[in-house]
Amino acid sequence: MKIGILGNGQLGQMLQDSITDLADIDVNLYDLRAHSDDALRAFIAVNDLISYETENIPAHIVAILEDHADKLAPGLNALKTFQNRLLEKNALRAAGIATADFCAVNSLEDVKSAVEQLGLPIVLKTTTEGYDGKGQFVLRAPEDAEPAWDAIGGRELIAEAFVTFSRETSVIASRDAEGNVVIWPMTENVHHEGILRYSLFPCEGLSDAKAEQARTYITDLANSLDYVGTITLELFDTESGLVANEVAPRVHNSGHWSIEGADASQFRNHMLAISGKALGNTEAKYPAVAMLNVIGDETPTIAADGLAGVYVHSYGKEARPARKLGHVTVTSASVEERNSTIDKLVGLMPEGVWAGGSK
Ligand code: AMP
Repeated sequence: MKIGILGNGQLGQMLQDSITDLADIDVNLYDLRAHSDDALRAFIAVNDLISYETENIPAHIVAILEDHADKLAPGLNALKTFQNRLLEKNALRAAGIATADFCAVNSLEDVKSAVEQLGLPIVLKTTTEGYDGKGQFVLRAPEDAEPAWDAIGGRELIAEAFVTFSRETSVIASRDAEGNVVIWPMTENVHHEGILRYSLFPCEGLSDAKAEQARTYITDLANSLDYVGTITLELFDTESGLVANEVAPRVHNSGHWSIEGADASQFRNHMLAISGKALGNTEAKYPAVAMLNVIGDETPTIAADGLAGVYVHSYGKEARPARKLGHVTVTSASVEERNSTIDKLVGLMPEGVWAGGSK
C-alpha cells in the first residue's frame, strides 16, 4: 500500500519514520510549498491513500482533494471543519464539549457587539491560518476594538470569551474506520510567546474525573465526525472542568513524547488507523516523560551526551527565530528524576520558562 502525506515537515517525516518496519506500506511525502496542480494530481494518482501533516491547506488544494475524497484520511469533513475556528467550535459544541462562549466577527461593529455580548476580556482570532498564537488579539477594554480590528480584521474573525485557566493540557487519540479508539495519557503543556516549549507526562494533579472527561470528549468528537487517524484536543484546565481550546486533525507537538515514551506513538497509530491495521497500545512505558522543544536561532548545542533516558530529535532545519528545530524526549523512573534531568537541559529554554515542573 502506498500512503501519501501532504506536507514534508517534521510531522510528515515522523509519520514516515514510525512504520519503517512495515514492509507492505510505502510512505511518500508531498512538499506543499512546491505545489502545482499537476504535481498534486500525479501524487494523488500514485498513492492509495492521502493524509496530511497540517490542516493549513489552501482552498485551491482542498478543491483538488474534493475530487479524491475517498482516498483522504482523515476525511474532507474533518479537514474543512478544523481549518476554520468557527466550524471547529460549532463541531465541539455539537459533540457536547465545553468551549469558551464565542461569536463570529466580520466588521468593527461586530467587534463592539462581541464585547457587549461576551464581556471583557475577549480573545479575537482569525478563523483560518492562525497557529502558535499568530493572528490573535486580546481585548481588555472597549477602546481596544479599533486597534484589534486594524491589527487582524478585514477578514473573518472569531471572538472568544477569555477563559481563566490554571494550565493547558491536551489529549490525543487515534480512531480507526471500525470505530475503535485508543487514547494516550494526557500531558501538561507549557507555552512561551505563543509556542509550545515543553510537555510533561504525567499531567500531575489532574483529577480522575477530569481525565475521564477528556477521554469522553475526544471519543465523542472523533465519533461525531466518523474520524479516522490521530486527533488532538487542546484543553484549558479550569476550576469547573476542562474547556476545549482547539483541535488539530493530526498528530501534535504535545504528543511527540509518545515516540519513546509510549508503546505505540501518535505517529504510528495514525498510520495504522488509516491503513486499516490494528491500533497499538498507548500506555506510557515510563513513570515520567517530558518533551522539550528546541526552538529558534539562539538555542545552544544540546548537551544531552551522557544523560540517561534522553533522546534528541533534530529536524534538519535551518535555524530561524521562533522556528521548531527539533525536540528532546526525557524518559525517567520518577518525576523527580525527570525534573533533575530537565534541570541539566535547561539551556534549551528561555530563562524562567522551566519552573521545575508542575506548578
Ligand atoms: P490558540 O492558537 O487558539 O491555541 O491560542 C494560543 C494561546 O492563546 C493558547 O494556548 C492560550 O494560552 C491563549 N488563548 C487562546 N484562546 C484563549 C481564550 N479563549 N481564553 C484565554 N486564553 C486563550
